Amino acid sequence: MMKKNKKYRVVVTRQIPTSGISLLKQAGFDVKVNPKGRVLKKEELKKFVKGADAILSLLTDKIDAEILEAAGPQLKIVANYAVGYDNIKLDDCRKRKVFVTNTPGVLTETVAEHAIGLLFAISQRIVEADEFTRRGKFNGWAPMMFLGSDVREKTLGIIGLGRIGAEVARRMADGFDLKIVYYDIKRSPTLEKKYKIHYLPLRTLLRTSDFVSVHVPLLPQTRHLIGWSALKMMKKTAYLINTSRGPVIDERALVKALKQKIIAGAALDVFENEPRLMPGLTKLENTVLTPHIASASVETRSKMSEMAAKNIIAVLNAKTPPNLVK
Ligand code: NAD
Repeated sequence: MMKKNKKYRVVVTRQIPTSGISLLKQAGFDVKVNPKGRVLKKEELKKFVKGADAILSLLTDKIDAEILEAAGPQLKIVANYAVGYDNIKLDDCRKRKVFVTNTPGVLTETVAEHAIGLLFAISQRIVEADEFTRRGKFNGWAPMMFLGSDVREKTLGIIGLGRIGAEVARRMADGFDLKIVYYDIKRSPTLEKKYKIHYLPLRTLLRTSDFVSVHVPLLPQTRHLIGWSALKMMKKTAYLINTSRGPVIDERALVKALKQKIIAGAALDVFENEPRLMPGLTKLENTVLTPHIASASVETRSKMSEMAAKNIIAVLNAKTPPNLVK
């Protein structure tokens, strides 16, 4: 139910595509967008959320008891502008009966496309070769220049066959002539049949895959899932791709493994301590690094903006939000 005399206050912690903001305004809310053009520091965020009925948050905002306290008891929803919600302390929200929502589904294909893009970029050495060409080092075709790795007839190991992992499998199963295996805490006989993919225990997947693409959420159980011992199990010729969350990989161990050529290369969209990178990572030629942009298409970011807005509109109209995190 709408308040009678006062408009509901919605705070948006960073400028996002305007389609969602427009929906919130059309719904009659008082919408305030962080004007600073950067992530708010904790104290700034506490001030910014004061008196809000709804917070539209980003994965760069740590939402914990302190922030909820600063917002006040009228706060009803934290709508995260991401499918992952490891930045939100769910227990703290539950205690205060604050709904938490995310944006699942709308970014699945875009993130899968980015993961596949990274797979090709690292195996065909596209970024390295681009830099070489730009620097004027191309002196003519050469038979041994930038030898990469074929994708066909190789094995792709997917860790986490959820929405995004399954989409990577679907795309790669149809047209690239490789074998696909996966590991997940839940087996999916339907997808196994549909995409002709095989389940393997994690260790076997790591030992046999030529490409390992990570798609699990960041949970206590998945933090450093890929550490030194996992990296040592991988083939020397294998590539690691991560578009999930940085801390799923032990980045210090990864830099060591890449330096020592324990694996052939890594293509990463996410990092353990964003935006800081592990020293040594940018010096390595056998890496492709993108700044957490896997969902960053114009179309997808607009859909995420609208989805977050619709969750807020539902809750402020006393309805269950469509994308409630349970
Ligand atoms: P999802 O929930 O559909 O899939 C996650 C899969 O991981 C599920 O199948 C689940 O069973 C599996 N899983 C959970 N714990 C596991 C464990 N301990 N071991 C093995 N498997 C486990 O999520 P999704 O929509 O596919 O997104 C996956 C993750 O990708 C998100 O949580 C998010 O962190 C990340 N993501 C990153 C970007 C980006 O910009 N780089 C964009 C979107 C999503």
